[in-house]
Parts: sequence; structure tokens; C-alpha cells
Amino acid sequence: MADLTRLRDAIRDVPDFPKPGILFKDITTLLNDAECLRLALDAFEERWKDENLDMIVGIDARGFILGGALADRLDCGFVPVRKKGKLPAETKSAEYALEYGTDVLEIHADAFDRGARVLVIDDLLATGGTAVAAARLVKDIGGVLVGMAFLVNLAFLHGEAKLGDVATQFLVEYE
Ligand code: AMP
Repeated sequence: MADLTRLRDAIRDVPDFPKPGILFKDITTLLNDAECLRLALDAFEERWKDENLDMIVGIDARGFILGGALADRLDCGFVPVRKKGKLPAETKSAEYALEYGTDVLEIHADAFDRGARVLVIDDLLATGGTAVAAARLVKDIGGVLVGMAFLVNLAFLHGEAKLGDVATQFLVEYE
């Protein structure tokens, strides 16, 4: 397995973004580096290549970058899960909790056939609310949720416990 500490070193910490007290894990510095991007995609590809996936579902917005590239590697289709009001055709929606209040994610109702084998991908798992909502949407439209992959897990927030017994992959973890 390739040395993934290179990935950890490439992620930039931005204090107090988007608001005071939040330490933002900026993955754009990892994406800027062709070798890091390839390392990350290699690791995702290696983990999921034998799972017979049909679709990669990427979460708005950084999940689109990784998900699109991974879909090409795994010969899958790509499906965006977007914030409310962005998808043009008929959607299913799922509400999830934010620190203050709620937000809504949507998926196109006809994004894949029932029984499609799906991997959900995002850049980072924090409290898990976003990922749980995306998983619900996949199941709502008849997908088989095979796994969930993230570049980063903020493990100290225990988001993984909310995901249930689905297979997961994290490339960089912060305890
Ligand atoms: P959560 O629903 O709490 O798991 O939040 C996950 C979503 O919020 C992901 O789409 C992340 O991109 C973003 N996010 C949450 N916390 C951070 C953070 N500290 N640094 C970067 N992105 C974050």
C-alpha cells in the first residue's frame, strides 16, 4: 500500500473558516499536487475495484471532484447529490441536521436503476449528517449502498458510528 502520509501532509489547515472556532481541512492543496491526487485515486480504486460497482455518488461539492475521477477509473457512472434546488429534474430529498438548523440534499429520482451497486464519496466525514442523508437518498431510489469513501475522517467527531454497518474507507484520519 502506498504511503498515505504524503496525503496528510498535503492537506492545509485553515483556522476559523468558515467561522470562528472551525479548523477547516482544505483539500485543494492536495488536489493541486498531481502525484497526491493520483495516490488518492489509486487507493480508492484499489479498495473498490472488485466490488462490481455501477455508480459513484459524489456529495456536493468536493465529492464531485473525487467521484468523477474515480467513476472513470472504475468504469462506473457518476451521480451528483446536490444541495436543495440545484438539480433540474424530479428529485428525492433528505433533510439533515447542521450545527444550527437543517439543510436538504437531493438526488435525481431516476439517477440509476433499482438494484444498482453504489459507492458514495465525499472529501471529508465530520459529524456524519451529510453522509447519512446521502446514504438515505441512495436507498430511497433503490440503490444498494456498497460502501462510503472519504479522503478525511475527523474521527474525534465520531461520524462513523452514524453510518451503521456499511463498508467505509478513509485515507487520512485525525484522532
Ligand atoms: P458532516 O455532515 O458534519 O459530516 O460534514 C461533512 C461535510 O461538511 C463535508 O461535505 C465536508 O466537506 C464539510 N466539512 C465539515 N467539517 C469540515 C472541516 N473541518 N473541514 C473541511 N470540510 C468540512
